[in-house]
Amino acid sequence: MSERHSRLTVDLAERVAIVTGASRGIGKAIALSLAENGAKVACVATSAERVADTVAEIRALGGEAEAFGCNVGVTEEATAVVDAVLEKWGRVDILVNNAGITRDTMLANMKDSDWDDVIQTNLRGAFVFTRACIMPMMQKRWGRIINVSSVSGLIGNPGQANYSASKAGLIGFTNTVAREYAKRKITVNAVAPGFISTDMTAVLSDMIITEAKKRIPLNRVGDPQDIADTVLFLASEGAGYITGQVVPVDGGMTA
Ligand code: NAP
Repeated sequence: MSERHSRLTVDLAERVAIVTGASRGIGKAIALSLAENGAKVACVATSAERVADTVAEIRALGGEAEAFGCNVGVTEEATAVVDAVLEKWGRVDILVNNAGITRDTMLANMKDSDWDDVIQTNLRGAFVFTRACIMPMMQKRWGRIINVSSVSGLIGNPGQANYSASKAGLIGFTNTVAREYAKRKITVNAVAPGFISTDMTAVLSDMIITEAKKRIPLNRVGDPQDIADTVLFLASEGAGYITGQVVPVDGGMTA
């Protein structure tokens, strides 16, 4: 493979990974990084077409990947993706629950649908995918589950009551599932990105970005690769004694 994205080198040969939200931003960087370190990657987005570019990039680099479309929060659709991955590759070793949305507004103006949509995608999506993957991981007595939370789930953020609740919920989910399956050598961790340059943050005004930067001791907005490299480490053999943890990757915002 040429033109590496990941700055770490780990051995994921024979591993099969599922990455939700792999069409762009953080999820795409994670999918590419896992693939260039040897994993076969099931790339998931709202439709297979939307994730086709990620799959094409992985294949162009000499890796193996397949595109899957589903709404992560819909049980039948998510389960069908996991079943198809098991059918194709016979196993699933690494699950990265990354798909996420925002519906930002102050609490007084927050509609029921703003709340429900965010919880459904960000929290229920992770639950449904994790439940579908846990048995195959238990059978192999090996697994890595990495949930993409947020600093908003750790310290809150005005305008994001729904999003913060979903991301804090992911942390509780991570801690519990880690305890439930540690004996099966399945580790479950979360990363909590700070302010990362993606489509999700591109919609924010220059003023908000300037203000956000002031709160980042490392004095720069994060790059999707900053998150991908942390996920890559947590997915590796070397991270086998880490479980139930939340790793902030935020330039020091929550330090
Ligand atoms: P993004 O650029 O907006 O990408 C979101 C991804 O999620 C896309 O691949 C999208 O697929 C997928 N997705 C959304 N809803 C879905 C659904 N219902 N079913 C299946 N896939 C769905 O976001 P990002 O900035 O890379 O964020 C990735 C994760 O990091 C999210 O969980 C986000 O909350 C978290 N995070 C981001 C930041 C940041 O500053 N960017 C900070 C903290 C945490 P489509 O292309 O098909 O829509």
